[in-house]
Amino acid sequence: RPSIVWFRQDLRLADQAAVAAASADGPWIGVYVLDDEGPGPWAIGGAQRWWLHHSLTALGEALRARGGRLVLRRGTSPDILRKLARDIDARTIHATRHYEPWWKAAETVLSGGDLELRLYDGNRLAPPEGVLTGARGRYRIFTPYWRALKEQMPPGRPAPAPHAIRAPHGAIESDALANWGLLPVEPDWAAGFGIWTPGEAGAHEALDEFLPVLDHYDEDRDRPSVDGTSRLSPHLHFGEISPATLWLRAAKRLHRQAEPWLRQLGWRDFCANIVDILPGYGDGNGRDAWDRMAWRRGAAADRDFRAWTRGRTGYPIVDAGMRELWATGFMHNRVRMIAASFLIKHLLIDWRRGERWFWDTLVDADYGNNAVNWQWVAGTGVDSNPFGRIMAPLVQSPKFDAGGYIRRWVPELADIEGEAIHDPHGAGLSPAGYPPPIVGHREARERALAASAEI
Ligand code: FAD
Repeated sequence: RPSIVWFRQDLRLADQAAVAAASADGPWIGVYVLDDEGPGPWAIGGAQRWWLHHSLTALGEALRARGGRLVLRRGTSPDILRKLARDIDARTIHATRHYEPWWKAAETVLSGGDLELRLYDGNRLAPPEGVLTGARGRYRIFTPYWRALKEQMPPGRPAPAPHAIRAPHGAIESDALANWGLLPVEPDWAAGFGIWTPGEAGAHEALDEFLPVLDHYDEDRDRPSVDGTSRLSPHLHFGEISPATLWLRAAKRLHRQAEPWLRQLGWRDFCANIVDILPGYGDGNGRDAWDRMAWRRGAAADRDFRAWTRGRTGYPIVDAGMRELWATGFMHNRVRMIAASFLIKHLLIDWRRGERWFWDTLVDADYGNNAVNWQWVAGTGVDSNPFGRIMAPLVQSPKFDAGGYIRRWVPELADIEGEAIHDPHGAGLSPAGYPPPIVGHREARERALAASAEI
């Protein structure tokens, strides 16, 4: 009997336990279901559709080159998989385990009946349900989670991709990828995204490019004007490379000095841990008291929100970040923190509006990573920066030497030299076409603190 490998956010062949198990079992087909129903409001966002198109193209080619095949279907995952299993007389579905609530729900539905769903770990450094406190409970705070996770490291050696794959004979219908309409008309990312190569090979190239600068990660990671981080996040989200591969290659290169970067991979695991134990984390405050927060609503808030999304707040570091996001589907981590904090605290707008915007515009949008980081910045989460710690964009910008980054992403400011770049209006300049700050720092800070004092 043939079996099925159900690909989701694990679009790779190397170090893929589901692929290895299916190959050992006999013939199999790979299936990707574009499921816009199961996830409800968390259906894949716009920027990631672009990525998905290219990643599926790469996966299909890699499978065909080994004698395998990839079947594409659209609909509700359990229904599609059941029907397909009947059609090809398969009894077993192999899949990598994921922690988003909609994937867990689909797995539960699939597990009943005569089909066997076999789930494998491998998209995290360690399965979060196995990283436990001394009392065998789950962690809600990162630092002890990281300590416990490190005790389980290094991960096992990654398995290579199978050389050859046996596929069942006979015709199996597949949608044509082009008909899914995943490529957006605007912005023209195909031209503007020269920085990305979606797919497994692209992920390994990104790692190869990053390893030589890993030595400087700790000094450079907070400086948006420098290419000091790996940009592996979309590859990791789509599972094009396994975290075990990253861990072992980084640790081999640097031993102890690799820790600051490996710790970020630990954050990724921790975020999966949080949404595993708190599945509604993307929609609800981690701490209930925040349900009473009087976020701004109405026309003025909508106008400010729009200015934020368009990169027209008058705060150069925020605007550069929001424009980088729109142009490339990515934003530097330090700038994500500043831009998110600005929306939540300076504009007093509910963090969930920003989270949604990121969901639609980031190529690395990830339910756990996005929600945990937004709630961390907002101060509403289980592990959070206190709300009262309000980032000052005009201080952060020179502190992290963001001048080059601003000149690159805000063309109206490209000619401004020296420190004035961080706060042109404050320096007495009125650059053509660039708005003055939509709110003053001190006034915004006071408003935010007053609102949060009510909680
Ligand atoms: P590197 O610095 O090279 O780090 C390596 C990997 O570690 C990353 O690829 C990522 O998988 C993981 N990582 C790094 N930082 C974090 C973090 N703080 N939390 C969780 N994992 C981390 N990351 C996403 O992948 N998806 C999101 O939707 C997302 N939304 C965010 C929203 C906000 C408001 C903030 C402040 C951060 C968000 N992040 C998100 C985390 C972080 O900004 C990105 O993971 C990072 O910028 C990706 O760049 P990199 O691959 O060069 O990271």
